[in-house]
Amino acid sequence: MNFKIDFKNSYAALPNNFYARLNPEPVKQPVLIKINNKLAEDLGIDTNNIEVSILEEIFSGNKILSNSDPIAMTYAGHQFGHWVPQLGDGRAILLGEIIAKDGLRKDIQLKGSGKTPFSRMGDGRAWLGPVIREYILSEAMNALSVPTTRALSIIKTGENIIREKIYPGAILARVANSHVRVGTFQYFASRKDIKSLKILTDYVLDRHYPNLLKGKNKYLKFLENVALKQAYLVAKWMSLGFIHGVMNTDNTSITGETIDYGPCAFMDNFNYNQVFSSIDHMGRYSYKNQPEIMKWNLACLATCLLPLINEDENIALSEAQKVIDSISDTYENFWLKNFRAKFGLHKSFTKDKDLMNDFLSLMEKHNLDFTLSFQGLAKINNEGSLLKNYDDFNRWKLKYYDRLNQENISLAERIKTIKFANPAYIPRNHVIEKIITESLENDFARFHAFNKCLSNPFEENKEYTEFSKAPLDNEKVLETFCGT
Ligand code: AMP
Ligand code: MG
Repeated sequence: MNFKIDFKNSYAALPNNFYARLNPEPVKQPVLIKINNKLAEDLGIDTNNIEVSILEEIFSGNKILSNSDPIAMTYAGHQFGHWVPQLGDGRAILLGEIIAKDGLRKDIQLKGSGKTPFSRMGDGRAWLGPVIREYILSEAMNALSVPTTRALSIIKTGENIIREKIYPGAILARVANSHVRVGTFQYFASRKDIKSLKILTDYVLDRHYPNLLKGKNKYLKFLENVALKQAYLVAKWMSLGFIHGVMNTDNTSITGETIDYGPCAFMDNFNYNQVFSSIDHMGRYSYKNQPEIMKWNLACLATCLLPLINEDENIALSEAQKVIDSISDTYENFWLKNFRAKFGLHKSFTKDKDLMNDFLSLMEKHNLDFTLSFQGLAKINNEGSLLKNYDDFNRWKLKYYDRLNQENISLAERIKTIKFANPAYIPRNHVIEKIITESLENDFARFHAFNKCLSNPFEENKEYTEFSKAPLDNEKVLETFCGT
């Protein structure tokens, strides 16, 4: 076999309390369902001229390349606000890192790869449904310009997975800039292991924030930078009606990527309080709470970093507090920037926020589809708008026109801005559910078509009309589940 991946193993070179060293558990009969050739190419992996059976061996974890040093990473975390001192990769193995064509170091991890010392009561496996969900959603997010982990392949394992029913097992190869989470910092900080905490932070700075290494106060600057990335990320989610569903600190990436596509969903009808996750009874991770939770998670990171920020605890606390206090403004600026584009606005005026929030409230009041309502802004003069029959919307429209008159934008330019900021296609849950049902019959036609459609989400294409529609009442997905 002359297939090569040039694995590096910088995380596995850290002290051995950072991970457990072990190989994935072999699977019975790996079958390749999907390989992301474009992503592979960006990573410098040639998947075109290789026998499928070799890809099946590698991306199932049955064959470990000699330069790969597989590990399960350790971390802790707050889950739904409750402290869990020991988590870690319970069903994932990091095969190693690869330097992509853009020069950045990426992790390649197998998810669903069998038991590890961190599996607790779990079987270490995943079934095909959640693997398909993660593939579709993460690749769609990438095409929507939202920072995210990526999906490289899906392998069916030929094994049965026992959940509420028996399902086919599957393994996802996930690619990320980093799998370090806020929870990784919490793991060491909670054990008062400052030595390891410093090793971790220096590793992350060196790998992900090298421009901070030379300046003063690098640890405080690190906190500031993670906050910036998280604020950017959550503002993007909000602008697309995306609900992550499980914003625990162990699912909060240190590089600001969307990670863990468990019970997440793109909203159909707009509702500020929308929750999908079957276990989120208190609505902690509802749409509207996401910015506050992001801040809460960053405050957890700040707490961990205090001993590194300053030897004097009071000084450290006051400096970290300033960063945390600034997050709301940073977030709001990103929010305004995203939403202005959605409304076809270029300049910034003080009352924009009210105007935009009024539109959201109207959408909520009339129970309208988020994505289609924004699309309708490009058709506001035509019959196409979802909102055209509502008097209160027609009153809002007059204010919107006044606002548009405050800047010199041609109609064509406005429509272009709106279309560029508002996707025609999002990975709607009812379509994903249909695809998962079909996958259990070994029918992947719609899966492939949907991925293709979502790879170009801003451009309307008659071929994909079925994917642009909101669900019928009987198709609506009201609840989502963790991907276990
Ligand atoms: P998550 O809800 O995906 O963020 O996972 C929370 C924790 O549970 C992590 O430590 C996971 O590795 C672990 N976990 C989730 N599903 C499984 C499973 N099927 N087997 C073992 N561990 C799991
Ligand atoms: Mg997770």
